[in-house]
Amino acid sequence: MEWKIDTGVLKKKERVILEGIFELDYLELDIGKMPILEPVKVKMVVVRAKDGIAVGGFVKTAIEHPCTRCLTPVRLEINGTIEALYVPEAYRDEKSEVELENLRNVIYYKNPVIDLTDRIIEAMVLEVPEQVLCRPDCKGLCPYCGINLNEHPDHVCDKKPEFNVVNNKFAILEKFKEKLREG
Ligand SMILES: [Zn+2]
Ligand SMILES: [Zn+2]
Repeated sequence: MEWKIDTGVLKKKERVILEGIFELDYLELDIGKMPILEPVKVKMVVVRAKDGIAVGGFVKTAIEHPCTRCLTPVRLEINGTIEALYVPEAYRDEKSEVELENLRNVIYYKNPVIDLTDRIIEAMVLEVPEQVLCRPDCKGLCPYCGINLNEHPDHVCDKKPEFNVVNNKFAILEKFKEKLREG
């Protein structure tokens, strides 16, 4: 289905409901493309309001996202809300911008046919937390060899460098202190 609305034919106070499955194979994030695990259910209500075209709704799906610590794929439920106010570009002036400043997500449009695709994707992206964990106490990966420490809790790494800079610094410091004590 088309996620577009022709504002030219939308009468005052008329409500248009757009409901269905949004076709999407993956959600593109900064870290990469996240596969979509469930059909993306969308319901939107579009109303011609006093200030412009008001769009409200929700998006529901599940995506696959790697655990921030150990990179194991995690199923992440997405329950996003869509909220936007489309204001004709022609109405854009300083006065209205001040008035609309307090409102969330004001979008100016030129073309009378509004494409709502970006709002759906935006609502999904906003639902992805900064940290996605496979479990609250995920131990992550060994910093030396990359082995998953959840699966190998007793891992003792043989890739760990022999020369331990931190310990060495402490050793030098201890010797220095000893010398001071000895005077
Ligand atoms: Zn993890
Ligand atoms: Zn290791």
